[in-house]
Amino acid sequence: MMKLKGIKGKNTMDKKQILLEKLAKLAVEVGVNVQKDQVVVVNSPLHAAPLTRLIQKEAYLRGAKMVYVEWSDSEISRNYYTYASDETLQEITSFQYDKLKYMVDNNACRISIDSRIPNAMAGVDMKRVMMANRVIGPKLSFVSNHYSSSKSQWTIVAYPNDEWCKTVFPNLETSEAWDKLYDAIMYASRVDLETDPTQNWKEHTDKLAEHSKVLNDYNFKTLHFKNSLGTDLEIDLVENHIWAGGGEMGGNGVYFVPNIPTEEVFTMPHKDKVNGKVVATKPLNYQGVLIEDFYFVFKDGKVVDFNAKQGYDALKSLVELDEGSSRLGEVALISHDSPISNLNILFNDTLFDENASCHLALGNAYSMNIVNGTNMDEEELKKYGYNVSLTHVDFMFGSSDMEIDGVTHDGKIIKIFEKGNFVF
Ligand code: ZN
Ligand code: ZN
Repeated sequence: MMKLKGIKGKNTMDKKQILLEKLAKLAVEVGVNVQKDQVVVVNSPLHAAPLTRLIQKEAYLRGAKMVYVEWSDSEISRNYYTYASDETLQEITSFQYDKLKYMVDNNACRISIDSRIPNAMAGVDMKRVMMANRVIGPKLSFVSNHYSSSKSQWTIVAYPNDEWCKTVFPNLETSEAWDKLYDAIMYASRVDLETDPTQNWKEHTDKLAEHSKVLNDYNFKTLHFKNSLGTDLEIDLVENHIWAGGGEMGGNGVYFVPNIPTEEVFTMPHKDKVNGKVVATKPLNYQGVLIEDFYFVFKDGKVVDFNAKQGYDALKSLVELDEGSSRLGEVALISHDSPISNLNILFNDTLFDENASCHLALGNAYSMNIVNGTNMDEEELKKYGYNVSLTHVDFMFGSSDMEIDGVTHDGKIIKIFEKGNFVF
């Protein structure tokens, strides 16, 4: 077994190992909910091998037919994009294609380990990466479509790395920062020494499903957000919207949880019916630039005014990227009193940061947030007020004093959030 970093004694080692085993089991049992004789693919960076080995073992113990690990390494990728010929970059070999086709045709479930190394591609000519993506992307879109429309189960769990933990805790020694990020990932994933994570997640996803159900039953026309920072925003939801969150049912009939952790219930704003001001409560990391203390003013769905104390140019490039990037594609509600938000850490990673606080997203909406939306084409979805953009960027605006009212179609006002938390 590989040695974990920052370990100071056998006891700590044992504890760390137990937590990692529990996280692996959680990914297999709750994340993808592996079925008997199912094929499992694990997408893992090399440095996440300690977690991936445990996932492989757990998946076999649960009856998986085959566990296939797709290893990646940022240096190997960097060398490939730097030194391979243009021709090679635009080629997908038949054996690479066949492997992916086998996974899709055989209903393989997919576990991805989130452990990105910040700036891993620094110095690489992005034009070459884009050239490769433009050619390879469409050829392999059958894979991303398969999983993004949940035809088979998929999930994402996190694992630390040196470079990442140093961006989260820049003032600590690497080993100390590593330990802190490790503990934070476990805590946010509801994994601890005492309790059963599977049971914790059952209770948690039941709670999220309950929130979704209450919100779906009200079928709100408008949400009204207000706090003392100056947020005063009215968002109309699209007709036939669906609140979703926690787990979902795959096209193959297997219930799974696509993100560990997840705290949000989310739905679709109408792209032309958002009015008022929203003040962000956490910095936004956009294309390597930190945007701080910013706000947006919306009129008829579009950002008509915005500012930032830091990172204004990056914010401007986001808002002006395309027509849809100045409109909303998602509204997500998260109680202020939640494990991730209580940690009060900026993870520099969407899997965590978007779950720390109520958030909105500029850019593309999710078709799953409309009744039967995943079977509609873009033109049909647009008639409902579905926003289309090349991007989808979440930003946080929840606070401990957030008040949210819902307005029903017959004009009733229902309290949803009081002092930052769900009232039901
Ligand atoms: Zn979200
Ligand atoms: Zn989002």
